Amino acid sequence: MRIVLLGAPGAGKGTQCKRIVDRYHVAHLSSGDILRKERAAGTALGKKAQGYMDSGALVPDELIVAMMKEAIDEISETGFILDGFPRTVNQAKELDKALDAGGIPIEVVLNLEVNDTIIAERMSGRRSCQKCGAVYHVRNLKSQVEGVCDYDGAVLIQRPDDDLAVVKKRLKTYHEQTVPVIDYYEGHLTVNHIDANQGADAVDKIICEILDGLP
Ligand code: AMP
Repeated sequence: MRIVLLGAPGAGKGTQCKRIVDRYHVAHLSSGDILRKERAAGTALGKKAQGYMDSGALVPDELIVAMMKEAIDEISETGFILDGFPRTVNQAKELDKALDAGGIPIEVVLNLEVNDTIIAERMSGRRSCQKCGAVYHVRNLKSQVEGVCDYDGAVLIQRPDDDLAVVKKRLKTYHEQTVPVIDYYEGHLTVNHIDANQGADAVDKIICEILDGLP
């Protein structure tokens, strides 16, 4: 199963990815998580990316495409879910070219739809695991032990780019540069639009129905 998961920042992509990975055993490739690891490791890519990330802008396509192609090449699983990538039409085209050449095209596109006001509320309460990238919310999706990741026991943090002013910039970037990616996929694949204004369990149920119904 090769899946692209689209949606604005804060739409719940990280949360749903964890569930999809647990159930369908596909590899989870989050461009945001990979960039954060590069930053933490102080690599050249991490250093180049940090200014864009902190301001809520997108990292240039050529850096992201090269990084994600390498990540896809490295996985051993037969399937994967792409989270946060592609975020521009150019990235989507480059991805299609690479996957078509390898005979492993995208099979499913899921698009999580959420109102901007709900997103702002969600992101201000969001907490993330700095080790595995798991995402929680202080009210709606609590970890079993407050402030600690359920998966690996690492401390949960609030990401600097979850600050409200940066969230607003990220939403603007999303509407301008990533919404056209939905149209791009509509041109050659079925895009499954999912109302993700509801709770994580309800969204999870819809996603399962879609994925279980695949041939
Ligand atoms: P995320 O955790 O997916 O919201 O990503 C955090 C930040 O990383 C974004 O605000 C961008 O600055 C950068 N980023 C992640 N994925 C991409 C991408 N596909 N293209 C460009 N920048 C990205």
